[in-house]
Amino acid sequence: MKTREVFGLNLEMTKHLMKASPKYIIVNSIDTVVGTASTVLQILFYQKLIDLVIYSEPSIAKIAVSFLLYYLLCSAAKAFNHWVTLVFNEKEKRRIYLYYKKMIYTESVKKKIEKYSSETYRNMLHNAVYHNGDYLYSFAVQLLGLMSSAISFLSVLYLFQRLHFIFVFAAVISAVKNCVCSSRVNKLKYEMHQVNMMIERCNTYIYNLFYFKKYIRELRFYPIGNYFISQYARLKELWWQKNKKMTIRRGCEDLICKAADLLIYASNVVVLMLLLVRGEITVGEFSMVLTNFVLLSSYIERIIMFFPAVWDGAKYMKDISDVIHSENYCLKEVKNETAADDSQGACIKCENLCFSYDGKNNVLNNVTAVLPLTKKIAVVGENGSGKTTFVKLLLGLYTPTAGTIEYCCPDRHIKNNMELFSVMLQDYRIFALSVADNILPFPDENGKKRINDAICFCGLEEKVRTLPQGADTILTGEFLEEGICLSGGEQQKTAIARAHAKNRPVLILDEPSGRLDPLSERRLIEKINHLSADKSVILVTHNLTYTKNADLVLYFENGAIAECGSPQQLISCKGRYEKMLSEQMKRMEAEA
Ligand code: ADP
Repeated sequence: MKTREVFGLNLEMTKHLMKASPKYIIVNSIDTVVGTASTVLQILFYQKLIDLVIYSEPSIAKIAVSFLLYYLLCSAAKAFNHWVTLVFNEKEKRRIYLYYKKMIYTESVKKKIEKYSSETYRNMLHNAVYHNGDYLYSFAVQLLGLMSSAISFLSVLYLFQRLHFIFVFAAVISAVKNCVCSSRVNKLKYEMHQVNMMIERCNTYIYNLFYFKKYIRELRFYPIGNYFISQYARLKELWWQKNKKMTIRRGCEDLICKAADLLIYASNVVVLMLLLVRGEITVGEFSMVLTNFVLLSSYIERIIMFFPAVWDGAKYMKDISDVIHSENYCLKEVKNETAADDSQGACIKCENLCFSYDGKNNVLNNVTAVLPLTKKIAVVGENGSGKTTFVKLLLGLYTPTAGTIEYCCPDRHIKNNMELFSVMLQDYRIFALSVADNILPFPDENGKKRINDAICFCGLEEKVRTLPQGADTILTGEFLEEGICLSGGEQQKTAIARAHAKNRPVLILDEPSGRLDPLSERRLIEKINHLSADKSVILVTHNLTYTKNADLVLYFENGAIAECGSPQQLISCKGRYEKMLSEQMKRMEAEA
């Protein structure tokens, strides 16, 4: 990474810090100055005190007064430092972490879904999402550390070099050795972290299997626990294979460092004893060097390590910054002007749409259709024929690999596809929120009415009435022990209510009745059929008996539209639709 980029990233994070906590840098700067002054005072005080006691026989009162003064000053400095680190910083860190999480969560949901198929993006996102936000203040902390170390270093250097240059020399050697060791360790750590990210994700998946109630139930009846234990063993083995060399290297380097430390300490003691015996230093100075040698070396180390530490942090900051700045999901524009040829009115025009998830095999092939947005449209076909993928392209969740989608809503103030659609997809999720918040998060007065309407629309009103806090009852037991678990069908109704409450001109429902009982299913389809005329519905279903009231049916086969027209037209054609419909009717009659 280039120097400019490294400092650019550090400044970017510091700018966020200043937005998250404007006082953080000021208060910590004061603390650094106070702390540095108190350290220098401490070094000087003990040396002078020991020499005073040994060589001048001072009065007890004089010692007591100087001790008291020293004690008061140091205690005040320590108290201030404690307040800063334990109260102020902890309070501000809460704000910083909150700011960071808000920023990352907001940004991460804006990114293109296609990005998730890239291992690099997932690693980057993993680093950014799982981080708590320390990198926002790390540059400020490094800079203040550099300032404090530089001042302390100059003071101790002055005191040490008066005695013998050898101590300064030894401190420099010790610091350089520590820097080399720690930078190698940090490099190794980062390399290991990058190599292990995929393993960590798999590990987390396995941990979750044995942690979440939803999986435990499944595992009990479908006993694949042993399989995952063997997968866990395989991952551990893989970890060891990938990290063996690096772990052994880390251990050896650590050992060499410790041996060098011991050697430097021993040589210091020998030189100090010689100087003391020769009367070239006082006992106070002997003690000062021994007690503060590590301190001097740590100051040098922090000065030398400033740049490498800033570089190391920048690697992680780059992941955070890349997530923030990487390409966003692009809202699709909706045309509001009336076209010269306005025969079609509000519609979605798809032309030669192709799509592939893996970049190799097309799941959709040259799909061309005009979907009138005042009509009820049914998208039907066998499993895997591309219905859901088609709908996801309409929603703008994926970008077509070829072809175009045009959204036209003449004379309606709809700016983009987000304002056009409400949707319930098959893989909906129920969150650890109240029923109401699962339907429409944090509603106002009007929102509450929309929630109630949505609850009635999906047929959940009876259930909500029986819940302890009605629509305010928390769902799932993940956050709250008393969280309520809904049945599969009730969860589906909640997801339908969510789509209904969003109240957009086009309601997309992907297999909305898959988990509903026959009565609920029939009621829902009736309600969908009776939705007001200005609302369009795109219903994805493999149950063709529900499509008889549709205005337009698109029959998908192998990623293409095989038949298209009104149900009556398709029945009279006696094609695939008619065949599938009559089979389903026969089955229903046989069941009845
Ligand atoms: P349908 O809704 O008609 O059942 P889908 O559109 O869900 O069909 O799927 C069409 C094909 O695309 C299937 O063969 C499926 O394997 C594939 N597919 C669906 N979703 C993904 C995905 N996220 N990644 C890769 N392939 C997918």
